Amino acid sequence: MPIDIRQFPCLSDNYGYLIRDRATGQAAAVDAPDGSAILAELAASGWKRLDLILNTHWHPDHTQGAEMVKAETGCRIVGPEESTRVIALDQVLSDGDQVDLGETRFDVIHTPGHTLGHIVFIDRRGGEAFVGDTLFALGCGRLFEGAPEQMFESLDRLGALPDDTRIWCAHEYTAANARFALSLDEPDAGVRADLEAHARDIFALREAGQPTVPTTLGREKRLNPFMRAENAADFAAVRAAKDAFKG
Ligand code: ZN
Ligand code: FE
Repeated sequence: MPIDIRQFPCLSDNYGYLIRDRATGQAAAVDAPDGSAILAELAASGWKRLDLILNTHWHPDHTQGAEMVKAETGCRIVGPEESTRVIALDQVLSDGDQVDLGETRFDVIHTPGHTLGHIVFIDRRGGEAFVGDTLFALGCGRLFEGAPEQMFESLDRLGALPDDTRIWCAHEYTAANARFALSLDEPDAGVRADLEAHARDIFALREAGQPTVPTTLGREKRLNPFMRAENAADFAAVRAAKDAFKG
C-alpha cells in the first residue's frame, strides 16, 4: 500500500513533509525545519500520531524542530551521525540501512556533497525519494562540505533509480534554478525546447503560489544541468557557474 504525503512550505523556502504508511497509520516527518509548523500540520492531518523523524543532514533548517516535535509526540529521531552535533538521535543511519514505517520500507543512501554525512530516503516500492538538499528540481545542493567528485557520484547513484521516481526535495528553489539552466548553452535543440516549456510551467506555478515539487527523476535526468554533467569535472564547472550566477 502506498504512503500519503503532506507537503507544506515553512521557513522562507523549505518544504516540510509528513508521510503516512496507509496500511498501519504510522506517520513520519521528513526533516524538522520548524517544530510548530510540523505540529500544526500534524493536527490538520488528523493522523493523530507521529512515529518517526527521518533526518537527512545536520543543517539547522533540517534539525531545529526535531526536539520540539519529539517532546510533543514521543517520536523517534533517526538520521546520519553528523546530526548528533546538533540533536540527539535515537538511531544513527548509514548507507545501506533500511528504516521501516509500518509496512513501508525506506532504503538509506549516503549522498555526500552538500554535507559530508547527508543521506536520502528511498521508498522503492512506492517510487518516492526524499532527497533533502542533495538534488533539487533543476538544481542540486551547494557544496558546503563535500567535493565536486562526491556530489557527482551522489547524483549518479540517485540517477540509477527508476525514471518515474518522484523527487521530494527540501527547498523551493526551482524558479532560480530554471533561470540558471536557461542561461547555459544547450546544444540539443529538443532538450532546449523541453527546458523552455518546463521553465514556463515553473514560472506560472510560482506566480500562482503553487509548489514545483515533486519533480521526477526522468525529468531531472533530461533537463537538470547538474544531472546532465558527464563527469566530475563537468559537474564542478556547472556548480561553479551556478554559485557565481546572479539570476
Ligand atoms: Zn542544507
Ligand atoms: Fe536546507
